[in-house]
Amino acid sequence: MRVLYVEDEKFLAEAVKHNLEKQEIKTDIAFDGEEGLNMAVASIYDCIILDIMLPKLSGLEILERIREKGINTPVIMLSALSEVEDKVRGLNMGADDYLAKPFKTAELVARIMALTRRPQDLQQETISFLDLTYNTDEKSLNGEKMTRKEADIMRELIKTPEHIVKKEYLLSKVWGGEAYGEDNYIEVYISRLRKMLKKISKKTEIMTVRGLGYKLVEK
Ligand code: CA
Repeated sequence: MRVLYVEDEKFLAEAVKHNLEKQEIKTDIAFDGEEGLNMAVASIYDCIILDIMLPKLSGLEILERIREKGINTPVIMLSALSEVEDKVRGLNMGADDYLAKPFKTAELVARIMALTRRPQDLQQETISFLDLTYNTDEKSLNGEKMTRKEADIMRELIKTPEHIVKKEYLLSKVWGGEAYGEDNYIEVYISRLRKMLKKISKKTEIMTVRGLGYKLVEK
C-alpha cells in the first residue's frame, strides 16, 4: 500500500508519515500543490490525501485536475472543521472522503483502509438493469469509473431497481457510523450520478421520492 500526502505543514506531514509507515502504509509527501499534482498524476498511489490550503495549487485544484485526467484514485480531503463549503466543493469535484483537522492518525488509517479495501473474492460481479451494467470490482457503470461513494450508492440503487431506497438506509450503508450530518451530501452524489446516467443510459434515471429517498427507474 502506498499513499501520497500533500501537506505544507512539514512537521505535521512528517509525523503523519511516521505513523502511517508504522502501519505499513508507505507514504510519499509533497509540500506544495504543484509538486503534489506532479506526483499524483504518476498514478502509482492507492490513495491520495490532500490538504486544502496549500502553496501554488490548492488541494481542490489538484483534485479537479487529477479527475479531469481520468485518474480515479481515492482522495481524502483534509481541512479545518469550519470549512463546510470546501467540503461540498470537494465532494462535487470527486473527493471520496473528508477529514477535519486536527485528526488522529488512527482515524486517517481507518479511512484509507475503507477506501482501498478490495473485495476478498476477486471474481467480478456485475448487476444489470435495462441498458445499465454495474461492475462491482471495477466500480464502473457501463465501463465508466465511479468514485467509491458514487459506486456504493449506485450499487444499492441498481440492486433493487424500481424500488425506493431510503435515504437513511443509504446513509448507514454508505457512510456507516459516520453518517451524522451527512444527509445533505447524498444529494451531491445523486446529482453526480444523474449527470453520468444522462451520458451513458437512454433508458434509466434516478427519481427522487420526496421525503423518502431515491429509486432507479425506467424512463
Ligand atoms: Ca495547509
